[in-house]
Amino acid sequence: MTALAPATIAALAGVAAVFGLVIGSFLNVVVSRVPAGIPLTRESRCPACDAPVRPWQNVPVLSWMLLRGRCATCRTAISARYPLVELATGVAFAGVTAATLATTTLPAAATAVVLVAYLYFVSIAIALTLIDLDTHRLPNAIVLPSYLVAGALFALACLLGADWSALLRAGIGAAVLYGFYAVLRLVRPDGMGGGDVKLAGVIGLYLGWLGWGALAVGAFAAFVLGGVFGLALMGLQRAGRRTAIPFGPWMLLGALGGIAAGEWLAGWYTGTVFTT
Ligand SMILES: [Zn+2]
Repeated sequence: MTALAPATIAALAGVAAVFGLVIGSFLNVVVSRVPAGIPLTRESRCPACDAPVRPWQNVPVLSWMLLRGRCATCRTAISARYPLVELATGVAFAGVTAATLATTTLPAAATAVVLVAYLYFVSIAIALTLIDLDTHRLPNAIVLPSYLVAGALFALACLLGADWSALLRAGIGAAVLYGFYAVLRLVRPDGMGGGDVKLAGVIGLYLGWLGWGALAVGAFAAFVLGGVFGLALMGLQRAGRRTAIPFGPWMLLGALGGIAAGEWLAGWYTGTVFTT
């Protein structure tokens, strides 16, 4: 695809940001309902007074600000987490869109499909991070369909002109990371949950699609981040050696690092080591 002008990329990133705000609003619903098994289609109501949420009270970020963080009916405080999740999703969507469009070497249609695949990943990463922090669980209802969604989108991108070797690498990445976490779980069942193992395969798909460097950096970064944070918590004596700190958020944050900079970092590292 011919390189897009910076102004075009900025405009499309702006559209993605607005789309991200709306998706962020939906992710808030996913985070509060999926672990509790409540259908996503149920009408939103104030948890304190049961008043239905009107459409104008449901505009991302703006409604929360206009209502000054309180229910319009009973004035009970609404957590600032809701607008922050919406804002974070908007920023993440803009960033992923700008980075994808600025670096793609694929035909336009394949680029669009790959972009959708990574926007989907950012969405489940935000939802799963919050659910894991809230409940120490990574629901199958989100993790398992993600294999299908990512696999189908990557296969479609190949049909539209992406390299089939990327799809093969994604499959290998999924198998390698799933296997690695499965072994970790066998060695230390108290340190790793079954949800972590299943999520590792999804992360392996996304990192493998980008390249071996992204896979290595993204997988390694999870342990660096989780280890540093765990040591810091122990230093603050807020966590004992056996306190269960959910690992999913570190896996996802590490994966985002691998997606953003893994290929570049691996190229820089091998270049430094092998050319000097
Ligand atoms: Zn209320």
